Amino acid sequence: MRCNARLLCAVLCALLCLSGCAGNQAADGGKPASSVQMIEYNSGLEPVARDDDYRTTYEIFVYSFCDSDGDGIGDLNGIREKLDYISDMGFDQLWLTPVHPSSTYHKYDVDDYLAIDPAFGTMEDYEALLEECHARGIRVLMDLVLNHTSDTHPWFRAAADYLRDLPPDREPSAEHCPYFEYYSFSREPQDGFVPLEGTSWYYEARFWSEMPDLNLCNETVRGEIRDIMRYWLDKGVDGFRLDAVTSYMTGSPEGNIEILGFLVDTCKNLNPDCYLVGEAWTDRSSIAMLYTSGIDSLFDFPFADSEGIIRAVMAGSYPASDYVQAMVRAEEVYGEANPSHVDAPFYTNHDMGRSAGYYALDEGPVTKMAYALSLFMPGDSFVYYGEEIGMKGSGRDENKRAPMYWSDDADAPGMCAGPPDMDEVQMKFPSLEDQMEDDLSLWRWFTEVIRVRKAFPAIARGVTEPVDAISDESVACFIRRSVDDEEVLVVMNLRGEAVEKDVSTVSDGLRLAAVLGTNEESISYEDGIISLPPYSIAVLTFDMEQ
Ligand code: CA
Repeated sequence: MRCNARLLCAVLCALLCLSGCAGNQAADGGKPASSVQMIEYNSGLEPVARDDDYRTTYEIFVYSFCDSDGDGIGDLNGIREKLDYISDMGFDQLWLTPVHPSSTYHKYDVDDYLAIDPAFGTMEDYEALLEECHARGIRVLMDLVLNHTSDTHPWFRAAADYLRDLPPDREPSAEHCPYFEYYSFSREPQDGFVPLEGTSWYYEARFWSEMPDLNLCNETVRGEIRDIMRYWLDKGVDGFRLDAVTSYMTGSPEGNIEILGFLVDTCKNLNPDCYLVGEAWTDRSSIAMLYTSGIDSLFDFPFADSEGIIRAVMAGSYPASDYVQAMVRAEEVYGEANPSHVDAPFYTNHDMGRSAGYYALDEGPVTKMAYALSLFMPGDSFVYYGEEIGMKGSGRDENKRAPMYWSDDADAPGMCAGPPDMDEVQMKFPSLEDQMEDDLSLWRWFTEVIRVRKAFPAIARGVTEPVDAISDESVACFIRRSVDDEEVLVVMNLRGEAVEKDVSTVSDGLRLAAVLGTNEESISYEDGIISLPPYSIAVLTFDMEQ
C-alpha cells in the first residue's frame, strides 16, 4: 500500500510539473494554485439565488466608503464604482447610511427626506446606483431616520418660528401652523425635553438638541411618512432600515409596536415586496415584542458588539455550545412573536467598536471565526464595511467610521479623508489591496464564508437543530434544516487546538461538502470522523446514496 501511495504521489508530482513546473502552479500558467485547502475545495460551489429576504447585506457608511471625485468625501458614484467588489464577495443587498441632505457628516439628522445630499451626489446618481445594483441582483435598503429630524428641517423651523411669534397668552393651534403638531412641545420642562430658544417652550429631543423628536402619532406626520415611502419605493428602493425604533415613543413599548405596525402596513400597502429591518438596540424579549408589529426583521443585538454572545463565545467566557443554544432560543422567541420573521444577525455596525479590536492578542483566526459565527446564523446577515479586512476603530464614533482601507496609499483612487475630528486609526491588518494577494487573509476568509453561506440555502433559511452529543466547550455542532428539506450539518472548532469528532451518530451518509480553514492545515472526513484544525468549519450534506 505504501509503495502504491508513493507511486501515485510521484505520478501526481510529475503531472503537476508538466502542467506548470513549480509544483503549485495553475494549469493555465496563471496565478499559482493555492496551498489553502478551502480555496480548491469550495471552488466548485455555486450560489443558489432566491428572490427572498434571506440576504447577505453589506452596510456602507457612505461618507467613508469610496470617493469618486477627489473631495475626500465618499459618494454614490464611488459606491457604484465598487459594485463589482461588493458583488464578487457575494453580497446581494446594500444598506446605505442616510443619503438625505443634512449638515452632519453622518446625516442621521435629516433636512429633506425627498432629496440627496449634494456631498454624496445627485438624484440621478442615486437612480443610476439603484439601476446598477438591480442589474447585479443586489437590493438596496434606504436608511430612514423617522424618530427625529434635524432642527434645521423646514418643518421644525416653521414650528419654532410660529411659537416665537405666538403671544404668550395665546394657545397654539395646528390650524394656524400644522408643523406645531409634528413635534412634541411643552410649556413645562420635562425629561428628554430642551428649551426652545427665544421662547418659554420646550421640545422633545432625546438624542441631541439639534435632533427634535417627531410626533409619530400625528396623522399629518404619518401622511408625510407615507409620501416619503411612496417616493422612494417608486424610484425602486427595495426596502428601508428603520433607525432607532425603540425611541419612537420613549418608554412605551406598546406605542413603539403601534408605530412600527403603521410603518409596516404603510410600506406593504405601497409595495408588498418592500422589506423592513428595524434598529432596536435592546434585549431579546424586547426585540420579540417589537416583532409582534409584523416587521420583517430586527437586528439581533444580543449576538453583536463587544458585550454580545459571539464575543463571549470566542473569548472563551461561554462554551462553543452556547452559540448553538443561543441561536435556537432566538429562533423560538422571535418565531413565537412573528412566525414569518427573518432574523437580522450582525456583529458590528457604525455605532460599535470594530471587531478586530475585541481580541488584542489575535493574529486573525479568532476575528475570522467570530464573523463566521454571525454569517452562519439564519436570516438576513449584515456585514459592516471594512470588517471584511479587519479594520480597526473604537472610542469616539468618528473612529468607527474610518475611511475604507482600500490601499496603504492615502492618495490611491477612492480613498476618503474620513469624518472630521476622527483620531488617527492604527490598522492591525493590511489594506484590501494587500489582502487580495494573500490566500489566508481576512478578506479571503469572508469571501469563502459567504460563498458557502450562499451555496447551501439551508444555512440562511433553515431552523437550527442542536447536536448536543457533539457540541462542547470548543465545538459548535448543529443541523440546519429548511422548509424545503434542504439540510446541512455544520461542525465548528472555535478553539486553538485541533479536534476530532465522530459524526457518524448523526448520519452514516454524510459527505464533506465545504471547508473553511483559517490556516494551511486541512480539514478531513474519514470513517465518520471529522478532523478539524484550530479555528475551522466543516459543512456536511446528508447524502443517503453513500
Ligand atoms: Ca466625493
